[in-house]
Amino acid sequence: MDFEIDKSYLELKKEFRAFGNELNKLDKNSSNYFEEAWKLCSDFGLCGLLVSEEYSGAGFTPMQAVFSMEGLGYGCDDDGLLFAINNHLYSCTMPILKHGTKEQKERFLPKLATGEYIGAHAMTEPNSGSDSFGMNACAKENGDSYILNGNKCFITNAPLADVYIVFAKTSTDKELNNVSAFIVEKGMKGFYLSENVEKIGLKNAPMGELVFDDCRVPKENMLGKPGDGFLVFSTAVEWERSCMFATHLGRMKKQLDVTVAYAKSRQQFHRPIGNFQSVSNKIANMKMNVEIAELLLYKTAWLKHNGKGNYLESSITKLFISEAYIKSSLEQLQIHGASGYLLDSGIGSQVVDSLASTIYAGTSEIQRGIISRWLGIKEL
Ligand SMILES: Cc1cc2nc3c(=O)[nH]c(=O)nc-3n(C[C@H](O)[C@H](O)[C@H](O)COP(=O)(O)OP(=O)(O)OC[C@H]3O[C@@H](n4cnc5c(N)ncnc54)[C@H](O)[C@@H]3O)c2cc1C
Repeated sequence: MDFEIDKSYLELKKEFRAFGNELNKLDKNSSNYFEEAWKLCSDFGLCGLLVSEEYSGAGFTPMQAVFSMEGLGYGCDDDGLLFAINNHLYSCTMPILKHGTKEQKERFLPKLATGEYIGAHAMTEPNSGSDSFGMNACAKENGDSYILNGNKCFITNAPLADVYIVFAKTSTDKELNNVSAFIVEKGMKGFYLSENVEKIGLKNAPMGELVFDDCRVPKENMLGKPGDGFLVFSTAVEWERSCMFATHLGRMKKQLDVTVAYAKSRQQFHRPIGNFQSVSNKIANMKMNVEIAELLLYKTAWLKHNGKGNYLESSITKLFISEAYIKSSLEQLQIHGASGYLLDSGIGSQVVDSLASTIYAGTSEIQRGIISRWLGIKEL
């Protein structure tokens, strides 16, 4: 087993970290912060990181993506922006790359890859969250189109997106193949969007609801074949659980460095607080979790990179990193004392931002269910 990391990956990590620091220079309080940040990301080539060069992307492999995005997560201190980019990349662009027709790829990918279009992925509904295929949205065949009806909620990027992958039932079969995926475009007749929905964290990841009221979607906008919704959804989920949490690993590494520096410099009882074992034990745990997270993430990405199945590994990676990120955010706050509780420190907001990570891309409870089923101790 070779644990030596390719130098080119480390270079990418450095380059993306430096770019993350550039993003931090933008004024987050400015009304057009998101647009400015998105423009910088587009110009940097981030929006099409994994899209092949023939569709104007950077053509990165999963390993290159993971190291790059880890660097970005270390550099950029805006979890919301990172999450918006992650969704665009893994949940919208990659399913189109894998399942799209040549015409769909030519039509949508170059604009998504250059950041001209923002992508979203719409599965969740008011009455179907974890039970995502228990959805009510339906699409009925009508001539050269499908007529789409239903509601989607908690959709990241929704208020600003141009392209949405939307899942709806196209038959009444009880099997998973009763769901199909559609590429819905902003402005289609019968497609309505809510304003930005306020969340407790991830402020710069816009979120909204979608309403489809007899929305006519041309058949040429179906992604995959009728009944391929499960395959398209699985592609998004696999990318999310395999690669998305690279930014979280980057954030954890930054938290560790910031906390170590603080524990060395902050003096109480005439000595650095890091000298107190109850403080240094917390930091040792942060370091241990970073190391485990790194091993899990690199292994999962390596499996994907090499075309090997990683269903179980990606679930474990998602579960571990999301929970470790919450712990790390809390320990950082505790060790910084009251100064970490101040709004301007940005430390408190990391706690709130991190809390979402055990909910999106499949909750922790669902990941534990997947692992248990894999072990044969739980039925589907
Ligand atoms: C920040 C954020 C961004 C999101 N972005 C998107 C997006 O872009 N697109 C999209 O489609 N969705 C998105 N979601 C929605 C997300 O996918 C759902 O929140 C998630 O699937 C859980 O569904 P739910 O919130 O309805 O919770 P529920 O499914 O109602 O679950 C409630 C609780 O019950 C537990 N539970 C449910 N079923 C089981 C079970 N079988 N076994 C054990 N425990 C169970 C859950 O783990 C949870 O703790 C986003 C969510 C968040 C927080």
